[in-house]
Amino acid sequence: MEHGFIAWAKARAARLPQIRLGIGDDCALIAPSQTDSVVTTDSLCDGTHFILSECGPRAVGHKLVSVNLSDLASMAAEPIAVFLSLCLPRQSSGEIASEIFEGVCASCERYSVAIGGGDTNVWDGPLVVHMTAIGSAPAGGAWLRQGAQPGDAIFVTGSLGGSILGKHLDFQPRLSLARQLHPLGIVRAATDISDGLGIDLLNVTVASRCGAEIELDRVPISQAAHERSTQTGRPSIEHALGDGEDFELLLAIAADSVDRVPKQIDGVPLTRIGTFVSRTGLWSKTKRGVEQLPPRGYVHG
Ligand SMILES: [Mg+2]
Repeated sequence: MEHGFIAWAKARAARLPQIRLGIGDDCALIAPSQTDSVVTTDSLCDGTHFILSECGPRAVGHKLVSVNLSDLASMAAEPIAVFLSLCLPRQSSGEIASEIFEGVCASCERYSVAIGGGDTNVWDGPLVVHMTAIGSAPAGGAWLRQGAQPGDAIFVTGSLGGSILGKHLDFQPRLSLARQLHPLGIVRAATDISDGLGIDLLNVTVASRCGAEIELDRVPISQAAHERSTQTGRPSIEHALGDGEDFELLLAIAADSVDRVPKQIDGVPLTRIGTFVSRTGLWSKTKRGVEQLPPRGYVHG
């Protein structure tokens, strides 16, 4: 299957100038640039990150591109190329491969990302897909998890929770939003919300050596989180804090720049949910006062 698939994949994938040599050789050649190279990788496994029999292989390809591009967006990087590796279940491997690739191509075309190469294997296990994405950021200008300071405001994009009801397979990586926000120069630290607001915010506080106080009644709770709440009997705020796979951005904004944060970008709201503080740990601020908050993020097993 390998040779026929590679020939087909090479013909199918768009040719873009950032890749000097793409699918078909031992390595890809990437055109040099004056910027910082930004590289990320993600794996998705049938049964953990998607259920192939329910979502189908195209949606897997789409999600794989989107999770990688979300990481690039979280550092305000422009995507250049992705590299795809597939571990295909032996039965119907050819059909699954081409359907995944169609999903990857459609997503890459949407964001003008090149498919630089990849690898396919067949095995007796379930479908496992890997992707490495490379991007570029202005030298020294990428957003990092470190850099938040006590007094900085915590902002999130979009709304949170309940992604299992569909958003985890079909979301827009916040590339365009980051592209418009970056030139304002007001973001001091950032990450994307993949494991859940609690855990991802904790990651930023640890990297930035500070703590964070969330005003729970300001957290934008998605409609899906409310729906999940009726299914699970748990409060919808817990779903917003802990469900994960929202793929929204979490941002630290300098206190004196809060007024310069757009209310929305491309129709996606930016909401202030709290403040970074010097006391380490996560804290919730409600009318009852300030309490320590368990991160409650969902960690993939
Ligand atoms: Mg991330």
